[in-house]
Amino acid sequence: MAQQDLKKQNPRKINPNNLPGTDEDPKKRPRFNVYWIYGLIFAAIIGYNMLRTVSTAGVETNIEAFKELAKQGDVNEIKVIRNKKFVRVFLNKDSVSNKPAVYNSILKSGQYETITKLAPPQLYFTISDDKNFTEQMENFRQENQTIKPFSTTYDDEGELFGQIISTLLPILLIGFLFIMMMRKVGAGGGGGGPGGIFNIGKSKATLFDKGTRVNINFGDVAGLDEAKVEVMEIVDFLKNPKKYTALGGKIPKGALLIGPPGTGKTLLAKAVAGEAQVPFFSLSGSDFVEMFVGVGASRVRDLFKQAREKAPCIIFIDEIDAIGRARGKNMMMSNDERENTLNQLLVEMDGFGTDLGIIILAATNRPDVLDNALLRPGRFDRQISIDRPDLVGREAIFKVHLVPIKISQTLDIHKLAEQTPGFAGADIANVCNEAALIAARKGKDAVDMSDFQDAIDRVIGGLEKKNKIILPEEKEVIAYHEAGHAICGWFLEHAYPLLKVTIVPRGTAALGYAQYTPKEQYLYNTDQLKDQLCMTLGGRASEDIFFNKISTGASNDLQQITKMAYAMVTVYGMNDKVGNISYYDPQQENTFTKPYSEETGKMIDEEVRKLVEDAYERTKELLIKHKQEVEILAKELLKTEVLFKSDVEALIGKRPYEEKKALDIIDNPKDAVIDDPMPGKVTTPA
Ligand code: ADP
Ligand code: ZN
Repeated sequence: MAQQDLKKQNPRKINPNNLPGTDEDPKKRPRFNVYWIYGLIFAAIIGYNMLRTVSTAGVETNIEAFKELAKQGDVNEIKVIRNKKFVRVFLNKDSVSNKPAVYNSILKSGQYETITKLAPPQLYFTISDDKNFTEQMENFRQENQTIKPFSTTYDDEGELFGQIISTLLPILLIGFLFIMMMRKVGAGGGGGGPGGIFNIGKSKATLFDKGTRVNINFGDVAGLDEAKVEVMEIVDFLKNPKKYTALGGKIPKGALLIGPPGTGKTLLAKAVAGEAQVPFFSLSGSDFVEMFVGVGASRVRDLFKQAREKAPCIIFIDEIDAIGRARGKNMMMSNDERENTLNQLLVEMDGFGTDLGIIILAATNRPDVLDNALLRPGRFDRQISIDRPDLVGREAIFKVHLVPIKISQTLDIHKLAEQTPGFAGADIANVCNEAALIAARKGKDAVDMSDFQDAIDRVIGGLEKKNKIILPEEKEVIAYHEAGHAICGWFLEHAYPLLKVTIVPRGTAALGYAQYTPKEQYLYNTDQLKDQLCMTLGGRASEDIFFNKISTGASNDLQQITKMAYAMVTVYGMNDKVGNISYYDPQQENTFTKPYSEETGKMIDEEVRKLVEDAYERTKELLIKHKQEVEILAKELLKTEVLFKSDVEALIGKRPYEEKKALDIIDNPKDAVIDDPMPGKVTTPA
C-alpha cells in the first residue's frame, strides 16, 4: 500500500488572521530567516579569509628601510616567501603607532599612516634570491648583536585564486556535511524533504487517507472473534457518533491491544479504520523517542493537531511501552525525555472530548510495565487481549493467507494448523509465502503438503541447509541426542506429546529438534515441571549413556533447564527450603541489587543445582531402562532423518500414558520445540 507522507497531505493553508501580504504560513518564515543567517555566516567566513589574503600584501618597502626598522626593535617576525622572492615583515603594532617621527623618517611619505592601520605583516620588500638574503641577514645580525631578535620563517605561497580555493574547500565540505546531517536528523516519515532539522518536532505518523485509505476490513482478520466484538463498538461509534452522544454514553478514548508480536494487532487496528472508513494514523512508540530533548512531546502535540484536523479518525501507536513505561520508579535510569513524552500524551488524551471522534488504539506486549496513568478511565481504559491463535484460529488464518496461493487439491489445511502450535498470524503468513516459494523453486504448478512441511520447518528452524556438512559420527551423536529427547517424552507421564523429531540440519539454527504439542493447561504442578526438565535433559543423558562422553550440542537445552529450574525455585515457590517466595521482577528494576540476602542467594544456587542433578539422574535411569527404544529411534532417524508421532508408534508401540487433549495456545512456537541449535563457536576458557 502506498504510504503517503503527512507533509504532502497537508498543503500550507492561508491563515485568515494574517494581514494581506503577509499571508504565508508563519512556520515558513523562520525557516527562511534561518537560511539567511547561514548565508551571512558563510559569506562572513569567506570574506574574512579573502580579506586576510589580500591584506597580507602590506606596504612595499626596501631592505635598507627594513634594516633600520629592525634596529628599532619593532620587528617580531619575518617570513621569506621563496617562490615569489619577497619578504613579509611583521611589526609590533603598538610600538609602531608610538613612533611617528622615526617611521616617517625611514619610510616613504604616507606609508606610515597606512601601516598603523594594518594588521601584521604591515610591510614587504622584494629580494633577488633567498639564499643571498639569508646570508645578508646573518651578516646584519653579526653587525647588530644588540637588537631585539626576531624569527625568520621560509614559505611558499600559491596564487590568490588557489589560496581562496584552499580556504573555501574545507568550509564548503563542512557546510555540506552539516546540511546532510540536518536532513538525516530531520527526516520525517518520508525522506526529509525541505526543512530538514526544522521538521524534527513533527510527528512521524503515517497517514492512510483518501487515495491510500486502508482497505482492510474484518474479513481480512481471521480468528480473534472476541477482540472483533470489542472493537466493533468503536467502529459503530465512528460511523454514527450522534447515536451514542445523544444518549449521554461515553465511548472509550482509547483501547489497548495486548498480545505477542505478529498476532494481528496492527491488522485489527487497520481493520477498524477500514470498516469505519476513517483516516488512520499509524506510528510506533519508538518514533517519539529522539536524542533531542523535547522532541517527543512536540511530536505528540503535532500528531494530535493533525488528528484533530482529520477527525473522526484512528491513531494507532505500536509498541506503546517505548514511551508508556512507568515513570520515575527507577532512580538509576530515569529518563526525563520519555517522561515528558508520556506526560504530553496524557495531556493530549485528556484534552479532547470523546465527541471529537479521535480513537487511540495502542499495542503492546508488556502491559505490566505500562504506567498506571495510561490505564486510568478516560485513557486506555479498555484492554483487548489478543492471543496466539488456537487450532481453529490457525486454520482460519491459513485460509485467509492461502487465498492468493495456488494449492494442490490434496492439501489438508486442518493438518497444517495441527502442525503449527504456537505460530502467530505473522508466522502463518510467512509459512504460506515460503511454501509458495519452495514449490516454485521445484517447478511445481501447485503448492502441496510437502512444500508446507518444508516451510514450517524453515520458519521454526531457519533455512534448511542442504549442503551443510555434518560428519557421519556427528550425525550419529545428534540422532541419539534427539532420540533421547523423544524417548524421555514418550515415557514420562507429564511430558508433552511428541509431534515430530528430526535431525535435518538447519542453517543458523538447529542441528535437529523434537517438536511437541503442549497440553491444554495453564497451571503446572511440580511433577509436570520436573518431567519437563527430564525431557529437556534427555539429549545430553542419551549422549552420556551411548557414547560415554558429552558434546557441546546440548548447550541450548542446558540454558532452558537453568532458566526453568531457577524459575521453579525463585518464582513459583516450588522449593521447600526457599519457601513460598517469589522474586519475580517484571520491570527489572533491581538490576543492581538482589531482593534477597547473600545466604539466600547461595541457598537458591544450591537448590537449583540439586533440582537439576536429581532430574539428570532420573533421566539417565529412564533412558537406561529404555535403552533399546532409544537405539531403535536413533537408527531409524539416521535412515530417514524425520520421524512423526505415527512413525514412533509404529516403531516402539503406543505411548503408555493416555494423552490429554492437546493445547494449541502457547507463548512461542519455540516453546513447543526442544531445539538443539548449533553451539556456534566453542570457546574454551583459558
Ligand atoms: P502485530 O501488530 O500484532 O505485531 P501484525 O498485525 O503486524 O502483528 O501482523 C503481521 C501480519 O501477520 C499481518 O500483516 C497478517 O498478514 C498476518 N496476520 C496476523 N494475524 C492475523 C490474523 N488474525 N488473520 C490474518 N492474518 C494475520
Ligand atoms: Zn537437545
